[in-house]
Amino acid sequence: MAKLTFHGGVHPYDGKDLSKDKPMRIIMPKGEMVYPLSQHIGAPAVPVVSKGDYVRTGQLIAEAGGFVSAPIYASVSGTVKAIEPRRVVTGDMVNSIIIDNDGLFEEVDYIAHDPKTVSKQEIIELIKNAGVVGMGGAGFPTHVKLSPKEPEKIEYVIANCAECEPYLTSDYRRMIEEPEKLVEGLKIILRLFDNARGILAVEDNKPDCIEILKNLTKDEDRISVKALKTKYPQGAERQLIYATTGRAINSSMLPADAGCVVDNVDTIVAIYHAVKDGKPLMNRIVTVTGDAVNDPCNFYVRIGMNYNDLIEEVGGFKTEPEKVVSGGPMMGFALFDLNVPTTKTASALLCLTKDEVSAMEPSACINCGKCAEVCPSRLIPKKLAVCAEHGDEETFSACHGMECVECGCCSFVCPAKRHVTQSIKSMRKTLLAKKKK
Ligand code: SF4
Ligand code: SF4
Repeated sequence: MAKLTFHGGVHPYDGKDLSKDKPMRIIMPKGEMVYPLSQHIGAPAVPVVSKGDYVRTGQLIAEAGGFVSAPIYASVSGTVKAIEPRRVVTGDMVNSIIIDNDGLFEEVDYIAHDPKTVSKQEIIELIKNAGVVGMGGAGFPTHVKLSPKEPEKIEYVIANCAECEPYLTSDYRRMIEEPEKLVEGLKIILRLFDNARGILAVEDNKPDCIEILKNLTKDEDRISVKALKTKYPQGAERQLIYATTGRAINSSMLPADAGCVVDNVDTIVAIYHAVKDGKPLMNRIVTVTGDAVNDPCNFYVRIGMNYNDLIEEVGGFKTEPEKVVSGGPMMGFALFDLNVPTTKTASALLCLTKDEVSAMEPSACINCGKCAEVCPSRLIPKKLAVCAEHGDEETFSACHGMECVECGCCSFVCPAKRHVTQSIKSMRKTLLAKKKK
């Protein structure tokens, strides 16, 4: 049974007013474009172009490197300048294709399809060939997610319209301005799962979106709109599944094990374009916001565009930011260099005048228990953080550290400003790498 909420969670300042009323604006890139070959979970893509090649917008430049991988397409026309390592938002150097944008935006031809008549297999192929991945941040190849072993056991396709991360308003704008694409995309996914119902799961702080989506789906027997209680991290996959269906999953289960498939708003719209228009994934909506920028806004960004150009589009900084984050403040990556490209998973660029976290030195834990109270995974974060700091992998695992969803709630509430999430995150990374080996 749906609970419409979940255990724990927090209510951070949401900062959405800065950009929520700014309609999506198309921006055209000017300089070179950078396409990291790893912008998804799985094997890196493999270049199919060489230095000096001329490419057009929508042309395949790197093919999938395996089943769990995704191809990459040029989002501009121009000449391949190099294939070399470039820095990405995580700070890592990743092998990338660099295209010198000629500013002409010459485009390939696309083959449109009727979503009502294409077969299930064709839908999966079109999504796979379009390079669609989870655009909410995970980057998991969507065709894999949509190919569970037993598709007949999928009972719910959940559109993650929660957008619970503070400051982010790109999904909100999509739901206001292009709700038809979201609903049509959801209907395409439902064609894959005969026994499933579609749920558009929206937090109740977006009543306008709820109304629009309810109106649009009033004659759709298989689709319903659910208003969820506004609380962070409502949009985390496990919390969303629990809130909408009452089913619980853990780190060793996939949503499909609970009869669910979850996709976020931008991903569903990318599915719609892949199937209906035959268009590969080349752009996404990015919120550029924060109190340090002149004119916060939501942009249609061509993937590969430099973050510095996004800052230019919002009129630059009004005050030098103390902290710049790719993504939201709770789960995003703090950036030390803006010279990085937009990727398939980049939902926002957040520029803040105050870095409240690093402005305060962490002090000793006062055993207040607040971190455990808010943990949506029902863990004891302070204990896990101590295990992580001491490299105690055994106790960390025994205390279910791998069930952490890295939401940041524990660090957010900690009065001692301890870097709880950070410690747990790095231990999880180590253990996941060991498991992979
Ligand atoms: S331990 Fe993990 S899941 Fe729990 S609050 Fe901290 S970051 Fe979130
Ligand atoms: S919230 Fe901070 S101070 Fe309180 S128990 Fe957790 S780690 Fe310790």
